[in-house]
Amino acid sequence: MQTISFIQDLQQTLQACKQQQKTISFVPTMGNLHEGHLSLVRLAKQHADIVVVSIFVNPLQFGANEDLDKYPRTLEADQQKLAEEDVNFLFTPQVNEIYPIDIAEQTQVCVPQLGEYHCGSSRPGHFDGVTTIVCKLFNIVQADIAIFGQKDFQQLAIIRKMVKDLCLPITIIAAPTGRAKDGLALSSRNQYLNKQQRQTASTINQCLESAASSLENGQNIEAVKLQAIEKLEKYGFILDYFNIADAQTLAPVNENSQEIVLLIAAFLGKTRLIDNKVLPLKPKSF
Ligand code: AMP
Repeated sequence: MQTISFIQDLQQTLQACKQQQKTISFVPTMGNLHEGHLSLVRLAKQHADIVVVSIFVNPLQFGANEDLDKYPRTLEADQQKLAEEDVNFLFTPQVNEIYPIDIAEQTQVCVPQLGEYHCGSSRPGHFDGVTTIVCKLFNIVQADIAIFGQKDFQQLAIIRKMVKDLCLPITIIAAPTGRAKDGLALSSRNQYLNKQQRQTASTINQCLESAASSLENGQNIEAVKLQAIEKLEKYGFILDYFNIADAQTLAPVNENSQEIVLLIAAFLGKTRLIDNKVLPLKPKSF
């Protein structure tokens, strides 16, 4: 695996691969890699000749009071994991390589509507930061395929919309959420949890599963929502949101919804955890 930190070097190297008619798949990350990330890498390998992974903790997607400074940076361990997965190129740009001008002057990409619900309303500007960096990385790497995790369901929907609306020549592939044995969605932020919080954290997935089966059994949507919120609060979570939305539009679920998604964001102490569950069939309660 070759680690490259400059845009021009990466582009020259990838140009040579393209001249040999190699296809490229791309996995953008913020590093501190876990099995969830590595499952994306494995999927990327199945879809193209060359795999490019990026590690960039993007300041544009962090709010003023968020964890940008303490976000775990573990480049050496990440490099080892990626080399073991036979990744071809790791792109590790510094902030001034990606944003050479003042961030306030940076052109941004904004996906309206989809970015306004759920995490969008509690983290203003977050998704504009995500779409801006992803668009920029897409233009740098010019991959055929990019892999994103369903763990960040809203992010995936927003990126798909950006690709469609801006006619970006790339195919987006979704990877299922990688989970710990107790069901907790793997996340770089899980390591902020102390031992007791880590045990409690699996309640999020349990709540999603039981809310999903209640909906499938025809229980009323508001009652299901209240039960889930009550349970999470009893375990000490401070709810950011628990929403049941249309999986296509991310708007509140309605009688036309074909597929619904349950989305949770909740704090345990200072750690914000997110998870989701998609229900393919229209629940009987609608
Ligand atoms: P991050 O480094 O957290 O920005 O995530 C980089 C990519 O990995 C995104 O596409 C995430 O959705 C994906 N990802 C993060 N955690 C998981 C997980 N537990 N399972 C599957 N994909 C994940």
